[in-house]
Amino acid sequence: MSGLLAPWTDGGATGSLHVIGASGAEGVALLLFLVDELGLQGVVAHDFSVDQRAFARSFRKANTAWERPEREAILKRLLRLPIELRLGDQYLRGLDDAQLIFASQNWFNYPSNLPALPDAVAAGAQLRGVVDLAMDLFPGVRVGVTGSNGKSTTAGLVAWMLRAALPQGSRLLHGGNDRDAQVALADLRGASSADRLVWEVSNRHLRDRVVPVDVGVLTNITRNHIEDHGSFEAYVAAKARLLLGTGPRGQAVLTAGDPHSQELLPSVREHVGTVWVAGAPSDEPEDGSVWLDGDAVLLRRPGASGVESVGDASTFTLPGAHNRQNLLSAVAGAVAAGAEVKALEAAWSRFPALPGRLELVAEHEGVRWVYDIQATTAPAAEAGIRAIGGDRTTVLVVGGADKGMDYSGMAEAAGRHCRAVVALPGTGSDAFLAAAPELPRVLADDLDAGLAQARGLAQPGDTVLVSPGCAFFSSRFVAGRNFHGRVRALLGTA
Ligand code: ADP
Repeated sequence: MSGLLAPWTDGGATGSLHVIGASGAEGVALLLFLVDELGLQGVVAHDFSVDQRAFARSFRKANTAWERPEREAILKRLLRLPIELRLGDQYLRGLDDAQLIFASQNWFNYPSNLPALPDAVAAGAQLRGVVDLAMDLFPGVRVGVTGSNGKSTTAGLVAWMLRAALPQGSRLLHGGNDRDAQVALADLRGASSADRLVWEVSNRHLRDRVVPVDVGVLTNITRNHIEDHGSFEAYVAAKARLLLGTGPRGQAVLTAGDPHSQELLPSVREHVGTVWVAGAPSDEPEDGSVWLDGDAVLLRRPGASGVESVGDASTFTLPGAHNRQNLLSAVAGAVAAGAEVKALEAAWSRFPALPGRLELVAEHEGVRWVYDIQATTAPAAEAGIRAIGGDRTTVLVVGGADKGMDYSGMAEAAGRHCRAVVALPGTGSDAFLAAAPELPRVLADDLDAGLAQARGLAQPGDTVLVSPGCAFFSSRFVAGRNFHGRVRALLGTA
């Protein structure tokens, strides 16, 4: 076997192989693959659970993709693996001779990993993650999608269109940032070179490593996740790494109307084989382009002069200008990965909406209830408000924490389209309300009270839009209780 694991599968490893966060979804996937599937010996697993009971609890909490009986069977299997499991306060001891360390994408947010992990890297160990291994194992064309907003939608669309538009004999695999959307590593290893893999890549995957892909798609860059990266520049550099990492034989898709992506264009053109611009025809003849002329989606292949008609964007199932931009990026990504153009329109006209993204939850007494819980940043909420549109016919529900975002665009959109805002507590709501001083507002302590207030404010023909524009709305206010059920209970339609 070639690649990252070759020193262990083919012999010749000079140091040890470690998995940090053994009870987490990424750690479990790695251990089962490395030990059960590949039969590697001497793998060391680390977890800060104090003992085996705590380990089992942490495992159950993190591995929700399996139904309970299967989860319990996997826990048993995991605990019987011939690995060395290091738990408790000293769980990171013995990294001194580490050659390869797998850690979850969030490793740096656990103080107990510091400074042992960076120290091991400084001493020469390679630090990698499950996504890097997935890419390393897969023999076909790998598409990675990143960006501040629209990753899941765009990655979902690329996968959906590729599934419909690949030549016969090619398979499509789709993995994600979502812990429930992991592709089994064994399936990736068993794939053929004619297959395609689409993966949503988060900023954390890119924080300290290159994720190797053949086609990198960057949707946009807005101020976000500074707390993880230390500065906005470091965050932009992480996003750029996905594109630059594709190299001279790779392809990169960037968005025409996004200023921070545009700033990356010269260096991407210098380092990456082929550049695609989504959103406008590129001035550079060597670039590929995908853009809209009215509702017509047009495409010019890299280096070509002819323009091809791809299809009619008005048949696309998702609303809003932001989703049209996602569509253009996805078309470029899919064509770069070998999709046949003629099959794309039929695919996008049947694309199923993803849950929690402008999802229509109820329509009652002339009021539409739309759930956009994934809009956790100001630009994402702004996109949602503009997509609903209308002349002050939206009652907006916001709430949660401020992560140092600029709320001016969201406030402008709300001023134009919203009748009123219902604000749940949080520093993010405070920042938004301060940016929109003219907007009528009511305050509510919790989600049920907020939804009741929204019901009172909405008039027939209005939309109640839950687009928080702030962090931690879901964990703080929805808190695991079904949103749809709450709306039905409020409306008496349960
Ligand atoms: P991500 O995976 O990056 O969080 P999603 O596709 O899950 O993005 O969409 C989350 C929210 O972000 C959506 O509900 C929408 O409000 C907003 N959004 C999606 N695409 C874009 C875009 N291209 N530009 C701005 N906002 C967007």
